[in-house]
Amino acid sequence: MLLSNAACTKFPHMMIARTLPDLRAACASLRETGGGLTFVPTMGALHDGHRALVKAAVASGAPAVASIFVNPLQFNPTEDLSRYPRDEPADLAVLEECGCSLAWLPDVETMYPAGEATTISLTGPAERWEGDARPGHFRGVATVCAKLFGQVRPDRAYFGEKDWQQLQVIGRMVADLLLPLEIVGIETVRETDGLAMSSRNRFLSPAERAIAPVLNRMLKETARSLVEGAVTEPVLDNARRNLTEAGFGVDYFALVDGPTLAPIAFANPTARLIATARLGAIRLLDNVAVL
Ligand code: AMP
Repeated sequence: MLLSNAACTKFPHMMIARTLPDLRAACASLRETGGGLTFVPTMGALHDGHRALVKAAVASGAPAVASIFVNPLQFNPTEDLSRYPRDEPADLAVLEECGCSLAWLPDVETMYPAGEATTISLTGPAERWEGDARPGHFRGVATVCAKLFGQVRPDRAYFGEKDWQQLQVIGRMVADLLLPLEIVGIETVRETDGLAMSSRNRFLSPAERAIAPVLNRMLKETARSLVEGAVTEPVLDNARRNLTEAGFGVDYFALVDGPTLAPIAFANPTARLIATARLGAIRLLDNVAVL
């Protein structure tokens, strides 16, 4: 199926849709294969973390749809939406190389029709942490995901564990709104020194890039100490102090219950250590399991 898009000739194995009619027609044709549909929502600037999501979606056996949409609603006024990295030709090449069947690139006017007055309101796992640090962020993420899910109507959607709180917020929303899809979490893909891959990493100076892996190191060391029976609060304090001494501004470094994001005093089987720390203007997010 050829959609009305000049870029199609460059990507012979992948359909590209920009409009809702094209997207719906392409999804319908993919669904005819009978195996359902998988979906990976992204904001582009694709790296190996995104690749892992698309490859997992493709490996599940159903055709994979990926969206590229820099969602204005999840940026608050103090965050620079215009600085978000964009490279559509490179992103499309990555998606095709990973075996994606359909790339959807909607525009802002499509996703937010004139006069729009509806957003998703969240509590529970959306409270605290990134919810506090970025007011309105999860409202934006959940609203756009609900719209994307409503158009693609996937059987499964793939999200990275790297954004642990986001993964829980979306899982909670899907359960609460009775949406007929499964949310699949994919393990964080890291650089060889442990730094979680992120589109923000390109903005780190060489000196900041050298310090950045300390965040993951602190998370792993703290998880190990907790497993060995250390008392939680002093171990967390020690990690915060080490990060500050290394040059980070620590937003939070906390032990939480994995699904609810509620702070906990003792590790449980779903416990997660979550952290966000700043190097200059760049916020780095990471988290690890505490097994
Ligand atoms: P983004 O384009 O940053 O909105 O991310 C799109 C998806 O990719 C989200 O589900 C992220 O959690 C996921 N993702 C981003 N970085 C990584 C990573 N290093 N490993 C695994 N998934 C990731």
